[in-house]
Amino acid sequence: MQNRIRNFSIIAHIDHGKSTLADRLLQETGALAEREMREQFLDKMDLEREKGITIKLQPVRLEYIARDGETYILNLIDTPGHVDFSYEVSRSLAACEGALLVVDASQGIEAQTLANVYMAMDLNLEIIGVINKIDLPGAEPEIVKQEMENVLGIDRDEIIPISAKLGIGVEDVLEAIVARIPPPRGDENAELKALIFDSYFDAYKGAISYIRVDSGKLKKGDIIRMMSTGKEFELTEIGVLNPFMNQVESLKAGEVGYLAAAMKNVADTKVGDTITNAGRPAPRALEGYKEVKPVVFCGLYPLENSEFEKLRDALEKLKLNDASLLYEPESSDALGFGFRCGFLGLLHMEIVRERLEREYDLTLLATAPSVIYRILLTDGSEVFVQNPSHWPDAQRIEMVMEPFVKASIMVPNDYIGAVMELCQEKRGSFVNMEYLTPQRVMISYNLPLAEILFDFFDGLKSRTKGYASLDYEIKGYEASDLIKLDILLNGEPVDALSSIVHKEKSYQRGRALVEKLRKIIPRQMYEVAIQASIGNRVIARESVKAMRKDVLAKCYGGDITRKKKLLEKQKEGKKRMKQIGRIEIPRDAFMSVMDIE
Ligand code: GDP
Ligand code: MG
Repeated sequence: MQNRIRNFSIIAHIDHGKSTLADRLLQETGALAEREMREQFLDKMDLEREKGITIKLQPVRLEYIARDGETYILNLIDTPGHVDFSYEVSRSLAACEGALLVVDASQGIEAQTLANVYMAMDLNLEIIGVINKIDLPGAEPEIVKQEMENVLGIDRDEIIPISAKLGIGVEDVLEAIVARIPPPRGDENAELKALIFDSYFDAYKGAISYIRVDSGKLKKGDIIRMMSTGKEFELTEIGVLNPFMNQVESLKAGEVGYLAAAMKNVADTKVGDTITNAGRPAPRALEGYKEVKPVVFCGLYPLENSEFEKLRDALEKLKLNDASLLYEPESSDALGFGFRCGFLGLLHMEIVRERLEREYDLTLLATAPSVIYRILLTDGSEVFVQNPSHWPDAQRIEMVMEPFVKASIMVPNDYIGAVMELCQEKRGSFVNMEYLTPQRVMISYNLPLAEILFDFFDGLKSRTKGYASLDYEIKGYEASDLIKLDILLNGEPVDALSSIVHKEKSYQRGRALVEKLRKIIPRQMYEVAIQASIGNRVIARESVKAMRKDVLAKCYGGDITRKKKLLEKQKEGKKRMKQIGRIEIPRDAFMSVMDIE
């Protein structure tokens, strides 16, 4: 039985055709009848569809009758395609023996792909090179083959050219999976060890875990134990996804499936954790488990203070589904009561915010994102600060440290200068440069994480006409000359607008920020003075002049419906405003701290 199982993933840079190929594999193996075929079956969440990215993974079990006449079970374990979720990628890969590396024939290898391939190589997976989109007029499969051989050591003669869109070469891919990826090996009579590579929350069944059984077996009614926490649960359901949930009697070593055990929270079923049998526990967990920690924080506040409890409920519900989301109540002088939330990265942050607004009908204010700063104080103690308004007084600070990353950027030769210039501006220090082919290089820099979070990506895209790709990993803390920049409105500091900036950039940022705020704060009944300050020193100042006329003056004596309409329009506008003291600020102002060059 094990001999006929193949567990594999697809690694691809965004848009290189992972979802299209996955759909095609489902179709060719008959897992989806033609009429059930909805484009991009694997990308479940609406937001994912919209953004065209894969965040959550769903495993699918395919049955394939190979040319040798045997029926094989192919478990396709999809991986998220974004750097924020690289830990989830590593756990999905750990559940496989092989991976398809899909590269667009007109684009070549990208930085993100490379990071994932290295991960797969570290895990000793068999890698099958696939060149997709050979139907495109701009396809250059020979050049891409050369690149894959040079950079990754993949034998060019073993690379499979395909068009996932047209279905060309898809059968060759299926045959290669059967022939080249080794079957799982694991003793089904040994103690149970199953890797959780994803989980989600189901309103009826509780938290569902997607698992790969490494050794032993499980069946309904077993008492399982989570090895990282020691928590125990009774299995209420186990099954496979082919592609819809289908209950089975048991899951054995080498198999992939799902389980439900009346777990109330996805935090009970942590990605990367090992499940064992409580009655006959394994002595050691599978390797590689780590607790994922948020790296980006921001404050989320309801626009209406009365919606605080509603926001708390919504966060609680989201958290059921997303164990990596952190939140705790905080208050701001300017914004009232809200939550400080921690995320895996900016995309994760954006997704959570959008889901809160869409699915829970909230209108939120988000403060500028921040990393976690490490500060040594003059009294010898150390604090971690992820909210600028908790920044200690300058006299108490001995040294400030911030997280740094090693960034790898892949780019055509013509843009080397542009990329280096950008990295330099973002306080980067050059590490090295490698030629991938005579036309393309990989440039590595050490950069502060905060700089990458702000507008690095957009800058990179525009300066390289979209040709560059970026990947990064967090390296650790390094000392930096950082200070707190405050914003004052009519002389009052607005805590939610404070940010942490590098000393050398503080004047420039302060100026840019007050100018930006002047443009986005509408005229009010009074003049509004906007100041940027460091410590008690004002470094930039602008003002918004007072409004001259009442909106209603225009229709003095006019008809009542017109008046009503105007008032309603004004109310609509107000919805997006936050009252701070006597001043109304558009809700987007708080985020604006981040998108300033
Ligand atoms: P993913 O981001 O890797 O999942 O990529 P998708 O599967 O969503 O594909 C990105 C885009 O490329 C879509 O517009 C697809 O229709 C298109 N695409 C995928 N495969 C092919 C192919 O073989 N040929 C052509 N011409 N387009 C393709
Ligand atoms: Mg996709």
